[in-house]
Amino acid sequence: MSISRSAHARRTSPAVVTATLVGSALVVLLPGSAMADGSNGNGHGNGSARNVIFINGDGMGAAHREAARLDQAGLDGQLAMNSLSATGLQTTDPRDPKATITDSAAAATAWATGQKTYNGAISVDVDAKPLLTLGAEAEKAGKATGIVTTAQVTDATPAAFFSTTPTRSLQSDIAQQYLQDTQPEVILGGGEDWWLPAGTPGAFADNPADDPSEASKGTHGDLISQARAQGYQYVTDADQLSRARGDRLLGLFSNEEMFQQRPEGEGDEYDPVVPLPVMTKKALDTLSRDRDGFFLVVEEEAVDEMSHEDNGPRMLEAMRALDDAVQVARDYVAKHPDTLLIVTGDHECGGLTVEDIDAADESGSAPGAISSEDGPFPVAGSSKQFVLDWTTTGHTGAPTVVTAEGPRSDELVGYYPNTHLHDVMHEVLFGRR
Ligand SMILES: [Zn+2]
Repeated sequence: MSISRSAHARRTSPAVVTATLVGSALVVLLPGSAMADGSNGNGHGNGSARNVIFINGDGMGAAHREAARLDQAGLDGQLAMNSLSATGLQTTDPRDPKATITDSAAAATAWATGQKTYNGAISVDVDAKPLLTLGAEAEKAGKATGIVTTAQVTDATPAAFFSTTPTRSLQSDIAQQYLQDTQPEVILGGGEDWWLPAGTPGAFADNPADDPSEASKGTHGDLISQARAQGYQYVTDADQLSRARGDRLLGLFSNEEMFQQRPEGEGDEYDPVVPLPVMTKKALDTLSRDRDGFFLVVEEEAVDEMSHEDNGPRMLEAMRALDDAVQVARDYVAKHPDTLLIVTGDHECGGLTVEDIDAADESGSAPGAISSEDGPFPVAGSSKQFVLDWTTTGHTGAPTVVTAEGPRSDELVGYYPNTHLHDVMHEVLFGRR
């Protein structure tokens, strides 16, 4: 059920009272009131677990989290994302004919469908057959769903939760599937170029100075007009977003990513026009109006893309925004214990380590090594410093940290394949596997 229809139902049936016999006691339920077992008594209840907030720091491994801890919180401090009650490790390997190491598409497919697949696949199996996604299942079950990302809203991670395509590059197809098939109530992020045909620049100019390669290139006509016709309120800046009151929101805040990923000093920028925590708060405010519960996917993409550039300062900026978004989610979960919050990374990127300053271990010092060092960076609240050492500009197979709190978060303690996250989210959202 869409939020709109839920709201409609609430408006038109305020006086409906349901009487239910529970054991020997007659329990009278007002609309929306809670059963003793935590369900809402409307037939959609599944114990006390209803909502999932899934947060992906794209490319975020353990060293990214530790570097961010030293940067933001210092030796005795802790990040919001590392303060959740449960911690585990996930392996991320895909089932690719050539690669052993995953990309974001195969990793997100594992989360969204519970199946391993090839790199580039958006929720299709190894034979390119479409799979059932958590986003589609959540909509079918009457829950509200949402996407928040600093990447294109049609980039691999959100795409795998809400669409199916044989290759991640089909971003206009993915946008069209959002509108025609899954219809997430909240879509906030970058990537306007894929929603408009060539020659229609939209709110963000084609060929801008900070990246002349950016220009509208949609292949399905004007999808923004189509979204409006379907009842989405369309916004393009922070002010419009804060004033938006619709139950369906489409916010596109850049041509492509909401940042410029480049090596340090070569036009690199991390300054999203709407910060990740602000988008996250708006999404939660909007989705939580649906009494059937919600499923929200939040992603900070710049952790990965800055790591591909071995750009430590910008990666750390992205980690600050990500942890602020996690704090927004924690604040929500503190008031809504029926919500599972998961924070993880789809794969590690950069082969990152955190080191002391060591003149003997500088860039390229080891025979055959491809290594670049960043820093030193100050440890917060201390006179100490740390160095970031990158061993690659690609992804690695290092397992990634999973932290979680809320219903069934105890099932995320341990060491497991990334498909396990799908199973736990499925159980929380739908009460069965
Ligand atoms: Zn990457």
